Parts: sequence; structure tokens; C-alpha cells
Amino acid sequence: MNCGEAQQELALWVGQDLTDPVRIETLRRHVAICPVCGQRAKALKASLVALGSLEVPQTYDTIDSLWPEVEARIMARQSQPPMRSSLVIWAALGLLSLVILGGTAWMWRTTPPSAAPAVTPNEPVAPPLYPPSPGHQSSGISPAIP
Ligand SMILES: [Zn+2]
Repeated sequence: MNCGEAQQELALWVGQDLTDPVRIETLRRHVAICPVCGQRAKALKASLVALGSLEVPQTYDTIDSLWPEVEARIMARQSQPPMRSSLVIWAALGLLSLVILGGTAWMWRTTPPSAAPAVTPNEPVAPPLYPPSPGHQSSGISPAIP
């Protein structure tokens, strides 16, 4: 391995992203005997350590943020017992039942029970086709028979 090949893979080796064990061993041997590549490897390791120790700045300002207040309200609402919301649901269902029953009663009241004419069971629907028998009491309506 020459210095050009070594320096192409040096950053991968320092960052432990080199996976081929043969390449890793070849690079390790070159870095151990080459002062230029050894110095470069030390500089890369120091840079990696420095990058890992940096504090990540916050991406938004938490002092003026509304989130803490919103989060506190959400948590307070979630900690309330669910009795209040279920009571509202039951009241709404009761009101809906009353509306349905009232509408049904109103429809029964305004709609005639049947479209057929009202006929009492003992009253003949049509005049008889034949004259009544001699002993029969006529109702006054008799068919016109010559
Ligand atoms: Zn070298």
C-alpha cells in the first residue's frame, strides 16, 4: 500500500467505517511505518474527538416558546377524570333519543292510521246483490230489481 491509497481510506479507518479486515490490517501496518500517514491519522482522530465533544446548539428558542404552556395544559386535561366528557356524551344521547321519540310520535299523530275507508265490522260494504230474505230486516237500502 502506498501513501495515496492509504490516505484515501484513512478517514474511513479512523471513523471505524472500513469493513474489510485485510484492508484494515494493511492500512494499520502502513500507518505504523509511514510518518506522513501516521501524522495524518493522528490529526483525523483529534478532529473526530473534537467533533464528538461539541455541544449541539438548540434549534429554537425555548425561553419565548409557547410549547411549555401548551404542554402543561395538555397534561392537565389528560389528568382530569373522564367523568365530565362521558356525562356530556350521555346527555347528548338522551337528547337525541327524545328528538327521535318526539318525531315518531308527531308522525303517528298527523298521519291517518290507514288509507282505506273506515268500515265497521257489522256494516255491509256494498248492498247485497239479491233481495233480502222475507224474514230479514232491511236497512232501507234495497237494490233496484224489476
Ligand atoms: Zn503513507
